[in-house]
Amino acid sequence: MSLHRQRSYATRALVLKRREQGEADRVITVFTPQLGKRTYLARGVRKSASRKAGHLEPFTHVALYLAKGRGWDIITQAETVTSFRQLREDLDRMAHAYYFCELLDAFTQEEDSHPELFDLLFNGFQYLQDSEDLALTARWFELHLLRHSGYQPQLFHCVECGDPLQPVINYFSLELGGVLCPRHGEGRKGAEPIQVGTLKVLRYLQAQPYSRISHLRLQPSRMRQVQAVLAAHIRYVLERQLKSPRFIAQISSPPLP
Ligand SMILES: [Zn+2]
Repeated sequence: MSLHRQRSYATRALVLKRREQGEADRVITVFTPQLGKRTYLARGVRKSASRKAGHLEPFTHVALYLAKGRGWDIITQAETVTSFRQLREDLDRMAHAYYFCELLDAFTQEEDSHPELFDLLFNGFQYLQDSEDLALTARWFELHLLRHSGYQPQLFHCVECGDPLQPVINYFSLELGGVLCPRHGEGRKGAEPIQVGTLKVLRYLQAQPYSRISHLRLQPSRMRQVQAVLAAHIRYVLERQLKSPRFIAQISSPPLP
């Protein structure tokens, strides 16, 4: 029997988002290791007696048992593998976990198998749970998501002439998706100057495993510049603004005196 003819199947998944459907149901969007992003129907999950509900919270790593449906496939059983509970108990961590989900959702199509992205999100959740610098963890996640999605910014060679970039003021071009040397970037429309230190941090985050970058301690002003470059690049690639970055900015702004 070929796979697509089977009436039921199982997969592990990370819960990206959910919305209410009808009286008691939820539509759940998940990311799976082999089936990519999928949307499933969880029937009766909003009734108090539902045994599935607790296993389908956002960010949960869950084992799902599914039945083929006419529209969405239907979740018949759900069992938590890793709850990632700490991500839901702390507002900052939760906001960042939502951002990771929103970003992954925006960069992927339904049913595109992409195991590296599943691993990236899974690792991203683990790092967020223990992170002492959520902004740094988020920048690492952005750069690695961009790499796996084919939108990695070019940070080592001029995107025009290919020459290795020198430790001087260079220029970031959204349109060209990377950095221009001074010869090709200066005065060019849409190319913004990028400082040596900012480029250095971006390169380091792009090239190094998380174990190396989690110990970095960076100046807040430097981090803001790194964030600004990546946010502009992501907005340009997606052609829209995501919701969670604004929420993160709101909750992390210093309290009023
Ligand atoms: Zn050049």
